[in-house]
Amino acid sequence: MLVILLLCLVASCRGDANGGSATQRSAGATSTATATGFNGSAAYDYAKSQVDFGPRVPGSPAARQAGDWIIRQMRARADTVIVQAFDYTTADGKKLPLRNILARFRPELSERVLYITHWDSRPISESAATEAEKKMPVPGANDGASGVGMFVALGDVLKKTKPSVGVDLLFTDGEDYGQFGPPEVDVLIGAKYFATHLPSPNYKPLYGVLWDMIGDKDLRIPYEMYSFQQAPEVVSRVWQTAADLGHGDVFVQESGGQIVDDHIPLLNAGLRVIDVIDLTYPPHHTPHDTMDKISAKSLATVGDVATALVTRK
Ligand SMILES: [Zn+2]
Repeated sequence: MLVILLLCLVASCRGDANGGSATQRSAGATSTATATGFNGSAAYDYAKSQVDFGPRVPGSPAARQAGDWIIRQMRARADTVIVQAFDYTTADGKKLPLRNILARFRPELSERVLYITHWDSRPISESAATEAEKKMPVPGANDGASGVGMFVALGDVLKKTKPSVGVDLLFTDGEDYGQFGPPEVDVLIGAKYFATHLPSPNYKPLYGVLWDMIGDKDLRIPYEMYSFQQAPEVVSRVWQTAADLGHGDVFVQESGGQIVDDHIPLLNAGLRVIDVIDLTYPPHHTPHDTMDKISAKSLATVGDVATALVTRK
């Protein structure tokens, strides 16, 4: 994803820029067990399993293995798993084999919540400091694996405790392949495909949440402004749930920028989908996006919110 406008619309944004609230953010309990039963340590281990395959660049053996792994994990947890496999031809004529993976809990219910995360990782590190590093793929511990880890751990919870609504966990492919532009070229590929290949013709989840880059040790999540403008009631629901759980220090009620991410094609298709993302992450799109930069505690915080949204009445 890419920030096309990183606007500090409120004064408190300045605190983020100079890291002034870091002490507050790193303070507190170290336990990763949460009231909802979500296990942050398990989420971290699942994220590590993804990273251990190597960069999940579309078309690579690591991508094939990691995708197979996600399918196996979700078949062991969800009621139904749908694999959307398709070939995508890039702007320069390369053919990429891609897979979206949709894991469904309580598929019989019409009242549903859609969660999205991308599982691919980026083939280049354009934000790296050196020319040599810029050519390297991104390991994607935060940008790719954090959301996958959270989803698999959420699957553990939902296998034991039936959600109060139907839940669809969508793992998108090809989010981070090309150029964010503008113009955007060869990015958000899986989300665009899903938006035109919904699981049923009348598919209309109550709302959706994209969870992206949620593992940063120094986690702080402001509003993403396309979400705030286009689906404000979903933003309110998620941030209020976080506040109720005592996570208001992470889910801060401040403006972030407008971020082009997988929620955009879904918003354009009429689904009420928001983006939960912490893009203030120095290793973003560099070879240094590695497991030591993310934490079980951050995954526990976000997983707690994701779990509460679909398990509480
Ligand atoms: Zn990315």
